[in-house]
Amino acid sequence: MLYTGIFIFCLVTGTNYVDAGSPRIVIVGAGASGIAAASKLLQNGFEDVLILEAEDRIGGRVHTVKFDEYSVDLGAQWIHGEEGNVVYQLAAPLNITDHSDPFYYEMFTSSGELIDPTITKNISDFYFQLMESKNSLKNCNGSVGECYEIKLKEYFALFPELNETMQEQLLWYLDQMQMSFDAADSWYDLSPEEDAYMTCPGDNAINWKERGYSIILDILMKKFPNPEEELPVLNKTILKAEVTKVDYSNQDGIVKITTLDNKEYVADHVIMTPSLGVLKAQYETIFTPRLPESKIRNIKGLGFGNADKIILAFNDTWYNNRGMKSKMFSLLWNETERKELDANIKTKWLPHVLGIAIVEHKPRLLLLWISGRGARLMDDLTDDEVLNQTIDILQHFLGKKYNVTRPIAMIRSKWHQNKHFRGTYSYRSIETQRTNSSAKQLAEPIITMDKPVILFAGEATNEHHFSTVHGAIGSGWREAERLMNLYSKNITK
Ligand SMILES: Cc1cc2nc3c(=O)[nH]c(=O)nc-3n(C[C@H](O)[C@H](O)[C@H](O)COP(=O)(O)OP(=O)(O)OC[C@H]3O[C@@H](n4cnc5c(N)ncnc54)[C@H](O)[C@@H]3O)c2cc1C
Repeated sequence: MLYTGIFIFCLVTGTNYVDAGSPRIVIVGAGASGIAAASKLLQNGFEDVLILEAEDRIGGRVHTVKFDEYSVDLGAQWIHGEEGNVVYQLAAPLNITDHSDPFYYEMFTSSGELIDPTITKNISDFYFQLMESKNSLKNCNGSVGECYEIKLKEYFALFPELNETMQEQLLWYLDQMQMSFDAADSWYDLSPEEDAYMTCPGDNAINWKERGYSIILDILMKKFPNPEEELPVLNKTILKAEVTKVDYSNQDGIVKITTLDNKEYVADHVIMTPSLGVLKAQYETIFTPRLPESKIRNIKGLGFGNADKIILAFNDTWYNNRGMKSKMFSLLWNETERKELDANIKTKWLPHVLGIAIVEHKPRLLLLWISGRGARLMDDLTDDEVLNQTIDILQHFLGKKYNVTRPIAMIRSKWHQNKHFRGTYSYRSIETQRTNSSAKQLAEPIITMDKPVILFAGEATNEHHFSTVHGAIGSGWREAERLMNLYSKNITK
């Protein structure tokens, strides 16, 4: 009631509420969505903004690190699309991005044989057409996997050389390929909801040249390209501040936030940005009172996946003697070998390695991508175990054609193991469809006394651009604008 009174008073007297004393806004998490929200609020006159970040760095799933002589990304890597993509719109005019070349695939069997490049090209082209065409999942009654499988088998039948064993290996490979986009455990877990994810038209694999994705954070904070214009986001961020309690039980709408080190903060509004994985794991312990059942249904119903990267540095570029810009070695695991590896907890992850790619502008690096269950299993192994098994894979698949040398260094991600992430990004599962869950409902704020006290941002709350950095930024801006509208501020675009 107090709040409504102040607001009416401000409107009547024409006083700008923000100028008269900024509302206290706490943002939980300094990932792309949190940084975007804070930047927009600060730029629009909100001064009492504080970010509490659990890690000892900002960026969240945007995580660029120094490795060998390069800046490499353990999280987000490419800008997915141009039209309608805020990252592209912010970065492209600054001449810091580069377009991709069409990927060149070399497919190898477990026994090191190179598959006829024409077949490889035809199958990858057909699969990507399936993915891109809206019609491929029309009238699909089962999972994405079930529907794709029918169409792929029809297509395989056009190639007499693809016997049943080979077809089975290709289906496993394409399932892993699909998981590199969705990060689920299998394409049989994916819902065929047609209008959920909207691809931004244009190049979907734009890279950052010699830089990494974290430059986008500097652009958001206006630190880049002109440091003199920097917004005071970093000054208003507390690192290593893991929020353990968000108490919104107070009927006057004041929220109490507690961190792991028992520090307490109060706010008029809290913007929650932790990943859906964190919400799934902690919604019961963080919030007092318990979140409304509808919110819990959406937290449980939306899918949250896993993926990891292994990046290897070499002294020589044995894998790219033709100096190609985009190339991937695709791995065709045979079923017997998969079963053997699956019987051992230490090697179970290996058949989920889908391929090995060169990295644009970083010629001495190779990147291995592991999705879903494989990523979770790999997180539990030691670096030595992962390195040795990775070297075995290179030898095993590529050793007949290439002079494989030993990497001089390795770095890898462990997204699932980290309790501040618990995975990589959200997807639409069969359970999402069954429970009628949606990002839109996840994004709905919790209202006390007519005011949004707990707001939700983060990639998983973005209706059409979930699982991406542009989706995360859009969600942060959306919640900042919700507060700006509430306090009748003009929006600075
Ligand atoms: C391996 C990988 C590859 C990817 N590739 C791409 C790509 O190529 N292109 C693309 O567009 N997107 C990609 N993504 C997805 C993209 O990185 C994410 O969608 C985006 O960065 C999410 O931002 P966010 O702000 O929603 O969440 P986050 O980045 O997770 O930010 C949330 C923040 O909250 C913090 N936090 C969590 N719990 C607490 C707590 N209790 N208290 C305080 N702070 C807390 C976390 O530490 C984190 O910093 C990739 C992600 C991964 C992991």
